[in-house]
Formats: sequence, C-alpha cells, structure tokens
Amino acid sequence: MIQNREAIRVLMVEDCVEDVTLAERELRRAGYEPITTRVDDREGLVKRLGEESWDLVLSDFRMPSFSGTEALQEVRRARLDVPFIIVSGCIGEEVAVEAMKAGAQDYFRKDNLKRLGEAVRRELADAAVRREHARALEALQHAEERYRLIVENVQDHAIFMLDEEGRVASWNGGAARITGYTEAEVLGQHYALFFQVGDRADRKPDEELARARDHGVSEAEDWRVTKDGGRFWASCSVNTINDGKRLRGYSVVFRDSTKRKELLDDLRLAVQARDEFLSIASHELKTPLASIVLQVGALQRFIDGKAEAIPVPTLEPKVKVLSRQIDRLILLVDNLLDVTLITSGRLLLSRSRTDFREAVKAVLVRLGESVERSGSEVTLVADAPVIGSWDPLRLETVVVNLLSNALKYGRGRPIRVELTASEGRARLVVADEGIGILPTEQDRIFGRFERAVPAQHYGGFGIGLWVVRQIVDAHDGTIRVRSEEGRGSEFVVEIPLGLPPLSRAEATI
Ligand code: ADP
Repeated sequence: MIQNREAIRVLMVEDCVEDVTLAERELRRAGYEPITTRVDDREGLVKRLGEESWDLVLSDFRMPSFSGTEALQEVRRARLDVPFIIVSGCIGEEVAVEAMKAGAQDYFRKDNLKRLGEAVRRELADAAVRREHARALEALQHAEERYRLIVENVQDHAIFMLDEEGRVASWNGGAARITGYTEAEVLGQHYALFFQVGDRADRKPDEELARARDHGVSEAEDWRVTKDGGRFWASCSVNTINDGKRLRGYSVVFRDSTKRKELLDDLRLAVQARDEFLSIASHELKTPLASIVLQVGALQRFIDGKAEAIPVPTLEPKVKVLSRQIDRLILLVDNLLDVTLITSGRLLLSRSRTDFREAVKAVLVRLGESVERSGSEVTLVADAPVIGSWDPLRLETVVVNLLSNALKYGRGRPIRVELTASEGRARLVVADEGIGILPTEQDRIFGRFERAVPAQHYGGFGIGLWVVRQIVDAHDGTIRVRSEEGRGSEFVVEIPLGLPPLSRAEATI
C-alpha cells in the first residue's frame, strides 16, 4: 500500500531506463517509495550530488562512458556518506571484489534483485547510525571546544592539569596571569615549581598530591611563588582525575587571594587593637573610680561618726582628690565619645566666633588641681586675644589633651603654653621638659590606640593625640611634634582663623 511506503531519494547511475524500472519495482516490493533520478555520466552525477541530498546511490558497473568504480569515487570525493550499491548485468567474482574494495556497500546482479530491498534497509539503517554518531561526535567536539575556551579564558583562576607524576599537562590564561609563566615555559614542569623553596624542602607539593590521592581532593591556603620570584597567597584546590580504573592525573584550581588575606590580617590587627583598647579603657576608667569610691567611703564614715561638725582641713584634701579624679574621668569619657563620633564620621564642628586665649585659660583653671599635683609650673604666654571661627569646646579638648600629656610626661619640670596669631593662623605651642619621644615613635603616636610608653608606667588610652589630630584636621589645621628623648617635647598646633574677610564697616571701626 502506497501510503505506508517510506519515501527514499535514489540516485541511479544507469544507462538503461528499463533497469531503473526494475530496481524501482524491487524497492517498492521492499516497502519503499523511491523518488529516482537517473544519470549516466560523470558530469550528471557530480551535478546531482552537489544539488540535492540522497538516501541511496544504485550504480551499474559498466556503462558506455562511465563505470561503477568511477561513480563511487565521485560520491566519496563529494564527502557524502550515502550507501552505494552496485547493480550490474554481469558481475563476476573479480568485479565484486573490485567494487567492495573501492568501498561499495553491496552488489547485485540485475537478474537477481530479490535481496536488494533487504540490503537497502540494512545500509540505510547503518548510514543513519553513522550519521547519528557523527552528529554526536561533532556535538562533543563543540562542547569540548567551548569548555576549552572557557577554561583558557578564565583570568582570575588558575586552572590546569597535572599528569600522574605531578607535571603540568595543561595551562590556562588565569594561571599565566597569576604565575607569570607562559604555557611553553611550564608544560612538563613539576607542580613544585609554584612552591616556596622551604616548602619544597618540606615536601609540601608531594604531600598535597598525596592528600588528594587519599581523599580525592586537597584544599590548601598558602604562599606560592611566581616566575619573577614574587609571592601570592593561593587558595588552592587539587582534585584527582581517575578513569574508573587508575589515576590519570590531577586538576588544580587556585586563585590569588593576596588582597583578601591582607584585608583579613588588617582586620585581625584591628580587632586585636580594639581588644587591647577595651582592656586598657576598662582599667583606665576603674582607676579614678576606685579612688572616688575610697574618698566617698571616707567621707561617709566621717558623716556616720560625727555628722555634726567635719573640720574643713580634713575635708579639703578629700574633695580635691575627688575633683581631680572626676576631671580625669571626664577627659577619658569625652575622648571616648569623640572617638565614637569621629569613627562614625559624625564629628561636626559647631563653629562660632571664639577667643582661643579664653579657651586656653578655661582649661588652665579646669586642670588647676592636676597642675598643682604634678609639680610642674605652667607658664602661659598669650599677650592678646586670638579670635577665629572655631568650635570652642573642641579647641578646649585639644588644649586639655596636650596639657594633660605635658603634665603626665613632664616629670614635674616647667611647661610653657604659648598662643600667638600671624598670617591668618593661630599657633598654639605646648612644650615640656619631660621624657621626650623617640624619633621613630613621633609619627606613630598620632595614630589611634598608639602609645610610646608602657601602660604600667603611665595610664592612658592612646587616643588623646589621635582625637587632637582629628579636631585639628577638621579645622583645616596642622599638628607636629618636636622632641628629643629625655629632653622634652614641643607640640605645635596651627589652625587658620577661618574668619570671613572683614566688611568695610567692621574694618573702619
Ligand atoms: P595616652 O597619653 O593616653 O597614652 P595620647 O594619644 O595622648 O595617649 O599619646 C600617645 C602617646 O604619645 C603616649 O602614650 C606617649 O607615649 C606619647 N606622648 C604624648 N604626649 C607626650 C609628651 N608630652 N611627652 C612624651 N610622650 C608623649
């Protein structure tokens, strides 16, 4: 029945039309509906092969101007995988052998075509399998090519293979970028090439491969070396490659994590500094508190005992201690609050027309008790008011910190506080003749939590000068120190007056 027949496109190389009909009948009998085109010379064959696609070529063996062998050659030259079957009037053993040698799939005598249909079915099925296979192979090659391109072009990861001996067998762009080695330089080199000399001596490369063999994968974070001898922090993963039976090599993936490591190290140091700060801070806050508790306790006992009349000479030193310790607490807490404000970027200046000299004087009064106790004589050299647009409370913080330090580190020797103005800037000098600061420490002391003295000898947070510098910076000023160890220190603050130019009316007053 025609409707169930499978249509096939048949190219017949045949000089005799009746033979075409014969073959068609045979194919129909086998369940096909052949759509046949006949050619009988090379030219016709080549033309048809180029123009259309074919399921089958049936070819006579001997034709007046062409032969089956030549036809077969043309089909193969056109790189077509079409079943080619010889159908010949006279076919002897020799001819058959010659045809099969040339690559024909089968041969039939024209007077015995009974098995033609069966052979066509087999060859078409084989051709379909071959086509499917070729398609799968091509898809695989495409996938491999894509994968190779991806791996080669990954720039931030080194991805490469080692053979079973641990020698580099493939290389990608990321590996070249991170290590500096080209593919030609590195192929065949042992994995140890990327390890530091000491690590090589410690057999770390072999250990890493052995770990991968034992566990399937080995992860490591370590310093590795580049071609020019530099080093980078590698986050590395080595996996084994097995073909099910034996180890074929290793895949290595690593990336340069140097920046991340540096960040982590900085973070670790910052956390450490913060912890140190917290322990010093709690100690520093407790010391004045303990003293206050002591004095209040003593006062309480007085009141409990003879509440009527506490003689003033007994009271006075206790109250002095109390006020000194309270001053200390206020400075500590103020500085702590400033640190919080500054680090969260919320230190806003509240500028107003301010007399710097008044601020210095106020501080001298405030710290009167501490000055007295220190034994240092403080001289203020400030002949005239110094007016500017500043935050008065912050200016006091600057003076309080510098003067407190001079008292603390000044060994009871004289202290000079000098305030002048020139060229649109105020200049404050706080100079002592105390322990001084080593040249190597002079920059560092302006850092947060940085101290150049042992905590057990001198109390302090190591934040006073940092706060001072932040306030001076916020006023667009500068601070520097001149100091000699054992001879004293001189801190010099300079800040612009920050005043708008005088209006004509003000200028004439
Ligand atoms: P603190 O005094 O609380 O330690 P600062 O930030 O005020 O913190 O000072 C930082 C460090 O600078 C001090 O620990 C000390 O080593 C040094 N320093 C500050 N002022 C003086 C000074 N006048 N003389 C000697 N050393 C000083």
